[in-house]
Amino acid sequence: MSVVVVGSIAFDSVKTPFGQCEQVLGGAANFFSLAASFFTDVKLVGVVGEDFPQNHLDVLRARGIDIAGVTRAPGKTFHWRGEYGFDLNEAKTLKTDLNVFSDFKPNLPVHYRDAETVFLANIDPELQLLVLDQIKSPRLVALDTMNFWIEGKNAALKKAIARVDMLFINDAEIRQLASESNVVKAARAIQKLGPKTIIVKRGEYGAVLFQGERMFYVPAYPLESLFDPTGAGDTFAGGFLGWLDSKGQHHFDDLKEAMTLGSVMASFTIEDFSFKRLEVLQHEEIEERCKTLQQATHSPNTVHLRRPSSS
Ligand code: AMP
Repeated sequence: MSVVVVGSIAFDSVKTPFGQCEQVLGGAANFFSLAASFFTDVKLVGVVGEDFPQNHLDVLRARGIDIAGVTRAPGKTFHWRGEYGFDLNEAKTLKTDLNVFSDFKPNLPVHYRDAETVFLANIDPELQLLVLDQIKSPRLVALDTMNFWIEGKNAALKKAIARVDMLFINDAEIRQLASESNVVKAARAIQKLGPKTIIVKRGEYGAVLFQGERMFYVPAYPLESLFDPTGAGDTFAGGFLGWLDSKGQHHFDDLKEAMTLGSVMASFTIEDFSFKRLEVLQHEEIEERCKTLQQATHSPNTVHLRRPSSS
């Protein structure tokens, strides 16, 4: 089992009501890889600039993440500057510098091409397509994106979406992509473009999965202290797909479990800036939160309504 992921490997500069950080390590593929590496083998594809610290690549390698598909190119690493208000569900992008990603043409190492699971994390959809073209016969292909690409590369994005089984997207983005304010209708409209399964991430309100006519909700793990939501969505996808890949089957009950793992993994990322929390995370802590979340959401009995005797 293994997951190939392509997406941004970045420096982030982030301001939240609780603090700020300059040029810390970030990027969709980075958060995803670290999260998924708790469950399965991860093969990372991306590009970094001359300014990217070797010791972070060593951290990824130490977690068992294969970085043979990460190229170092002349120039600067991708940089994202964003800000959150007290509503941590909404990131405001202040600046996106693609830098070395502008000219990146991925050429996957041969041993990446047999992967069963592929995650096209947030990055230029044309790059997502180039990676997908090089994988022989994946069993599950999922994609994530954001408003930057919905606005800037809409045609390529729709082409990529048509080729995937599963889409991870937040509620504001799916409304924008489908030009539809109702999230359920928006999900139905996007299903018609290709992906049978849509996972809509709703920040502190959890996430909802649509598959055909079925749906499943998972709440966000209730945290008392949270710091920075950057990367929560990618960490959710890492937990979700890492778990599914490790199980090797994709029945609806497996997807339900994966939703719990996604929510739990995301809860760790938002407890600190960058990957600080993921870097020290232990398997026992993941199990503990899964147990708590499952207990908090499981209602064992079917509801049978009894009419009041007066009626
Ligand atoms: P998330 O909070 O999970 O949606 O993702 C946050 C991560 O996405 C940050 O670490 C950023 O570096 C990265 N990011 C922000 N804008 C873009 C973009 N336009 N393309 C790819 N990655 C991005």
